[in-house]
Amino acid sequence: MDVKYVRTTCPYCGTGCSFNLVVKDGKVCGVQPYHRSPVNEGKVCPKGTYAWEFVNREDRLTTPLIKKDGEFVEATWDEAYDLIAQKLKSYKPDEIACLSSARTSNEDNYALMKFARGALKTRHIDHCARLCHASTVAGLAASFGSGAMTNSILDIAESRCVFIIGSNTFEQHPLIGRKIAQAKMNGAKIIYADPRLTATGKQADLYMQFRSGSDVAILNCIMGEIIRNGWEDKEWVQNRAKGYEELKAVVLKDDYLPENVEKISGIPAEQLKTAAEWIGTAESSALLYSMGITQHTVGVDNVKSTANLQMLTGNIGKRGGGVNALRGQNNVQGACDMGALPVVFTAYQKVIDPAVHKKFADGWGFPDGICESKNGYEVTVMMDVLTDNPGELKAMYIMGENPMLSDPDITHVEHALKSLDFMVVQDIFMTETAALADVVLPATCYAEKDGTQTSTERRVQMWHKAQEAPGQAKLDWQIIAELAAKMGYADQFPWQTSEEVFNEMRSLTPSYGGMTYERLEKPEALHWPCPTEEHPGTPILHIGKCSHPDGMGVMHPIEWKPPAEVPDEEYPLVLTTGRCIWHWHTGSMTRRSEHLDAEVPTGWIELNPEDAKALGIVDGEMVKATSRRGTINVPAKVTKDIMKGVTFMPFHFAECAANVLTNNVLDPIAKIPEFKACAVKVEKIQEA
Ligand code: SF4
Repeated sequence: MDVKYVRTTCPYCGTGCSFNLVVKDGKVCGVQPYHRSPVNEGKVCPKGTYAWEFVNREDRLTTPLIKKDGEFVEATWDEAYDLIAQKLKSYKPDEIACLSSARTSNEDNYALMKFARGALKTRHIDHCARLCHASTVAGLAASFGSGAMTNSILDIAESRCVFIIGSNTFEQHPLIGRKIAQAKMNGAKIIYADPRLTATGKQADLYMQFRSGSDVAILNCIMGEIIRNGWEDKEWVQNRAKGYEELKAVVLKDDYLPENVEKISGIPAEQLKTAAEWIGTAESSALLYSMGITQHTVGVDNVKSTANLQMLTGNIGKRGGGVNALRGQNNVQGACDMGALPVVFTAYQKVIDPAVHKKFADGWGFPDGICESKNGYEVTVMMDVLTDNPGELKAMYIMGENPMLSDPDITHVEHALKSLDFMVVQDIFMTETAALADVVLPATCYAEKDGTQTSTERRVQMWHKAQEAPGQAKLDWQIIAELAAKMGYADQFPWQTSEEVFNEMRSLTPSYGGMTYERLEKPEALHWPCPTEEHPGTPILHIGKCSHPDGMGVMHPIEWKPPAEVPDEEYPLVLTTGRCIWHWHTGSMTRRSEHLDAEVPTGWIELNPEDAKALGIVDGEMVKATSRRGTINVPAKVTKDIMKGVTFMPFHFAECAANVLTNNVLDPIAKIPEFKACAVKVEKIQEA
């Protein structure tokens, strides 16, 4: 029997754990520890343990499919390419939109970004960062000049105080949770703020349960207490920050006194004062957040508020400090870095900057030019345009995304996608979205390719090919390059290897400029920015100065605003959504993993015992949940871990899809939807 071990990086969360794939007779059949990665030191969570199980599933896509008379029919690659090329050439550039993928490699994302802007010449490219951390990119860029996690994962263990708000770290980023546990063992105080008492909250020294949507009020309150007690870092504020006086004027308002914020948030005033004291007096304090902060109509405000707190306490550019935005999917950081966003090329180089536009146009060498130097549509806006302005967008090319389960208000998304004239989906399984496509293209998964992904801490790490792709499945970038060649752009997509794609990308991308595959092979890999081949990479950002041109951090005075949809008589409960430790995103991989699926085979809605009692609902009962967007039937989980008046649903499960209920109302800057707060009612299902 031929057995080998191939080191690679986990395809699930943004932590970026490394492990060895066990390959027997050419097939991936297990995961074994790789001890040399400093991120996870050989440990993995349940998802990592079973990250091999979906790879050789019988229902992998193995051949191109073309829909004829409503049914998919197997096709050759040439037939599929010819049809796609002919259709895409028939539209004007801005009638086409592309969705890239946070699950695929940097090389794949770069290829689709180049294809969209260079071959199709459309401005409209985005991906699911819009749904999770678009507000981080915008908020942290406004505060520090760089929209990414400021410190490293290892650094969290060094902190003396860890403040986690809106992140169930122990379940969603378990190996980052391990660093929190190490910080606690080293004597750090752990503060946890969330509407649910999650596994993370159960490890905290102080748990603050709050009403979803009151984040800015809580953060302003903590900052007000810090200033009133003189715990702010006066030197940092004076020498490194702009906007302190304006911030101070807001956070010291009576509205944000602990007694008043108790009424807004539900957090007892004494707890708010304790949190302020622990954060304000700690030698170092790390702030960790995830989508509890970002997925709001005030997502950018929330993010800026976290940055305000960390600047106020001098915890930026410092070991054990930082604003640690925990990115969700394995390569959501990389997909953003690769310019799969409607406003930037790679490394956040602005599309509307004429010099940048010229740099990419010249660098790529398309004889007929590239897209206009104008911003495109965000994915959430694309869906609205499709329903509200029929005919403006006609075609969509989707690589590795599943908006039919991941996006808010799925009924609206379905209406939008069904109004397209032509849709291509490139994926590894027949997802809910692929089922609506005109052409489906079979792609390779992480175990079948070389490439790079960038974890939440800006660490760029390698994937290594462990087995051959099933059937006729191809590399994502290879599919794009071959399609581009069919459209007359073979010279612009000449790549033969992933490394050639990476090298072209880095030549246009300053923060990746010094990275090579050889350098990334080291167990610790490299953190961006890494501008030259001599540069050691940058685990901690903003040491000495921030990334704005003047080097200063910017404090933003922010007033609290309630969520767009609040409970009323008809819909008296708040719904917040999230994930669980056993499943990932829309479940297309984890629900095909035997062990993970056995642990949690379907979804649920959490209800506080008092709310359940008032509704006559018992634990495990199938109930009806309704919002202004739709209704689903879902099993009830009655638990005191959820706050009275609040409900929670994971969004992984198509049969009880939480996003039937969620609200497609957007943050005005980041265009991220408010997944974390909408109004619902929950009822017993009446017997017929
Ligand atoms: Fe994979 Fe994240 Fe688990 Fe690490 S913590 S094994 S990256 S899912």
